[in-house]
Amino acid sequence: MIGIIGAMEVEIAALTGLMEERQEVALGNNTFVTGALCGEAAVLAVCGPGKVNAALCTQQMIFAWNPDWVLNIGVAGAADPSLHIGDLVVGTAAVQHDMDTSPMGDPIGYVSKVGLVEFPCDGKLRARLTAAARAVPGVRVTEGIIATGDQFVNQPERTAWIRETFHAAAVEMEGAAVAHACFSLGIPCGILRSISDGANDDSGMDFAAFTRMAAGHAQQVVRNLLAGT
Ligand code: SAH
Repeated sequence: MIGIIGAMEVEIAALTGLMEERQEVALGNNTFVTGALCGEAAVLAVCGPGKVNAALCTQQMIFAWNPDWVLNIGVAGAADPSLHIGDLVVGTAAVQHDMDTSPMGDPIGYVSKVGLVEFPCDGKLRARLTAAARAVPGVRVTEGIIATGDQFVNQPERTAWIRETFHAAAVEMEGAAVAHACFSLGIPCGILRSISDGANDDSGMDFAAFTRMAAGHAQQVVRNLLAGT
């Protein structure tokens, strides 16, 4: 069984549409769709935006289905300015850019109890994602750090701070929470993001204009991955 989580319907709809032997299971306010995706047993969910929504959904999915791995897919703002809208970023690790207990002497982004700044992404899944992403025509594929926080980032100064502080390639709102829940429960995790905007002054409009296209690229990667491309 594999698990796939997107924050918004548009990030997962093309995959749920492909599910065979499809069943819906409600747990709390999350609806999980189970079935066969490209011949593989899968559970999919739309978690809603933000770290708490993402962590709750991931933990519920793991408790109920104990998947071999959980993949978070969706769109993101570019923290690396060389990335263009539609490009793909495969996570090497994820950070929580709005976690800050530095007045107590901790590094910025340090999550106490788990004792990490960078939540790891599984190396094998990452390699498979990158290979599958390279089969999508016309987009650049890069591996890098995903920076997650409970903010839609559209201020260039904030984006520059996130890039410089965490060496982040992309900024979004769920990846590190999925990785945090997976790490806590010992489940391998992957993050795949497609750029919808530049995390800058244009982001509100770009997000509205390009999310559907960018979300399609990420879902194409999952289909390539499951087809063994
Ligand atoms: N009410 C809206 C909220 C969308 S928030 C809705 O539910 O449709 C934006 C989403 O896109 C988040 O899930 C986040 O992961 C991603 N995202 C895209 N660009 C982003 C940016 N510049 N900063 C933060 N998150 C971004």
